[in-house]
Amino acid sequence: MRLADRMNGFSVETSLEVAQKSRALEARGVRVIHFEVGEPDFPTPAHVARALEASLRAGETRYTSTFGVPALREAIAADATRRLGIAYSPDETIVTHGGKPILLFTLLACVNAGDEVLIPDPGYPIYSTSIRLLGAVPVTYGFDRHDPRRLDLDSLVSSVTSRTRLLMVNSPHNPTGAVHTDDELAALAEIAVRHDLWVLSDEIYGRIVYEGRHRSIASFPGMKERTVVLDGFSKTFAMTGWRLGYGLAPAAMISRFSLFMTHTTTCVSVFVQRGGIAALEGDDAPHRAMVAEFSERRARIVEGMARIPGVRCASPAGAFYVFPDVGGLGMTAKEASARLLEAGVAVVPGTSFGARGEGHVRVSFANSIADIDEGLSRIADVAAAAMARR
Ligand code: PLP
Repeated sequence: MRLADRMNGFSVETSLEVAQKSRALEARGVRVIHFEVGEPDFPTPAHVARALEASLRAGETRYTSTFGVPALREAIAADATRRLGIAYSPDETIVTHGGKPILLFTLLACVNAGDEVLIPDPGYPIYSTSIRLLGAVPVTYGFDRHDPRRLDLDSLVSSVTSRTRLLMVNSPHNPTGAVHTDDELAALAEIAVRHDLWVLSDEIYGRIVYEGRHRSIASFPGMKERTVVLDGFSKTFAMTGWRLGYGLAPAAMISRFSLFMTHTTTCVSVFVQRGGIAALEGDDAPHRAMVAEFSERRARIVEGMARIPGVRCASPAGAFYVFPDVGGLGMTAKEASARLLEAGVAVVPGTSFGARGEGHVRVSFANSIADIDEGLSRIADVAAAAMARR
């Protein structure tokens, strides 16, 4: 195949690959505990599904606006204004197929080949691959060596150069579950303003927080006009398969994003968008119940990990992942995840999230308490065997 140069090295290791391997194992009769998946194990709330059904029955099966249906844009703006404490109007919103397109749209709109983009390491794998796809350069910043829940702001400051165009922030953070403090966000905002950077704030886990509170970097002085917020329905409302997300940004940026919609998929299906309106405006009890359940599972998994010799696990303040340090077992991230998969526990090697993820694995607790207990017991067995060999 003769392909464009940009396809060289364009690949990504994600939880989806681990999921594939674990399914192959299951086909051979092994019972696998699924700690690799990044999606809620809850059904979409019934009232959301009913809104989609009603829309289809009413025959809403045509093209719609490339920006999204007006009623959903109004609901998104009202929700963001209320929740983030920043006044957003509908013309500062756009509806997309999940939150992911907002990442690519922001890069396409803001970054030239050769420009540098600051991203967290460990971090969501598609940040770096999307940046490289456009010929730009990912430059990483990390977390504090002594406290994995806090950013290493010094490393970030020293990474800014005259080529830096965009800063990516992800709080609550995948894979560590860190929620950036107001002080951290203020420091990031100050850097963005001082160096005139665009900011992409990935807030997809913004409504899954157990400690502290979610705050958007867009709410700091001078930030709304330079920030694109990526958000969506996948995690908050257990709607991963619906492919429904959105961006918040200055209206002039949103109109550029709508051109990308025009040139690719035109618009998100109207009936899917009707579900989004029901999710934002309807009863949020199912969402609250889901977060309460995640909170219990978080306690269970953190307590369980603490009992395993050779494993150190910080308690995540948000999202539904723990990112334990398994370096004490004398294995790399890849070896640990391969060994765990042999024992029927699927986790993602920390290096899938960047070089600084070495020695870690990502464990999703979007799984039942029974599976969490069984998974912990299998991890303890693998750890005991590894410690015995040391
Ligand atoms: N951002 C982060 C940090 C994620 O973990 C994910 C999904 O796993 C996304 C964005 C994309 O979510 P969506 O399903 O809305 O495209």
